[in-house]
Amino acid sequence: MTSSPTPENAGLLIISEEVCAQVVSRSDSFDAVEAVFGAMARGDAYNFPVIREAIGYADALYGFKSGFDRAGKALGVKSGGFWPGNMEKGLTNHQSTIFLFNPDTGQLQALVGGNYLTAVRTAASSSVSIAHLARKDARVLGMVGAGHQSTFQLRAAAEQRAFKKVVAWNPHPDMLPKLGAVAEELGLEFEAVSQEALGAQADVIITITSAFEPLMMADWIKPGTHIACMGTDTKGKMEVDKALFARATVFADEIAQSITIGEAQHAIADGLITEGDITPIGDVINGTHAGRSSDDEITLFDGTGVGLQDLAVASVAARVAEEKGLATRVAL
Ligand code: NAD
Repeated sequence: MTSSPTPENAGLLIISEEVCAQVVSRSDSFDAVEAVFGAMARGDAYNFPVIREAIGYADALYGFKSGFDRAGKALGVKSGGFWPGNMEKGLTNHQSTIFLFNPDTGQLQALVGGNYLTAVRTAASSSVSIAHLARKDARVLGMVGAGHQSTFQLRAAAEQRAFKKVVAWNPHPDMLPKLGAVAEELGLEFEAVSQEALGAQADVIITITSAFEPLMMADWIKPGTHIACMGTDTKGKMEVDKALFARATVFADEIAQSITIGEAQHAIADGLITEGDITPIGDVINGTHAGRSSDDEITLFDGTGVGLQDLAVASVAARVAEEKGLATRVAL
């Protein structure tokens, strides 16, 4: 039911998955994620503790990511998780919805489909790290992973440097042609290679898998590489050799998540690095940390995925969809 908003009932906007994909571009997402990482580092925005539970049904993991961005006036929660059986039903394994609340009144403002936005904000995260940390002359992009997120990652990364070639590896090689097709569409040469060859060739590496053991060893990564570890978002997951943390300059979206559920959890547990060795990427964005200091330095970004990223892109979706008349408004 559509109704006119009043102060008592401002109404609830509903933004479908389809509309999100229409109104939030990669560059909108990049700007929103970069801004919120900066706000987090300034202390203007903070994430609340994450809840993530195996619900003992359908093998699902379900939870909440939430936070408040005082600067961007975004308050809300993303709720959803991972349903591994969905692929067979023709659905995405990750399912989520974002709820935005009015920070002045607590009223529910918008219900926003979270599936497309999760992919586009996760891709924006690695791409913000590439923009700020990768060598300017990076020409070869290495992709470790070929699942749902990987094509979003590739498209976003390709916009950050003048890449000429993509080298890729995936534990399930049959998934690689889909990634290859996107590379071809972007005019990039594509080659499926071994993990070691990937490390030897790539100037920038993105890891985006559900791995629980290292797929890339520290010795395979050449000096000057920027590596964005994006797949590890849960305790126990792991994509790269923890020894790499001792060799790299380490950045993260949020340190608290990085050391508990992010890629850094293993290096921290083994005492290879301490929390103080990790810099929030927001410090680089805000200019309070110089970022890369030499051409030979290995930079590692631990992108764990924070609720504030979801709220940032959902706020864009709600605003633009309303402006364009694409949101459905209902009375509460
Ligand atoms: P997907 O299920 O579509 O693809 C899974 C990928 O991991 C494929 O490349 C697959 O070959 C590989 N894989 C599957 N099982 C594996 C195993 N046991 N060992 C090694 N590799 C394995 O998933 P997706 O949506 O592409 O997500 C990939 C990862 O990214 C997941 O771990 C997901 O939780 C994570 N993720 C992180 C963020 C973030 O913000 N950091 C956001 C979304 C998803």
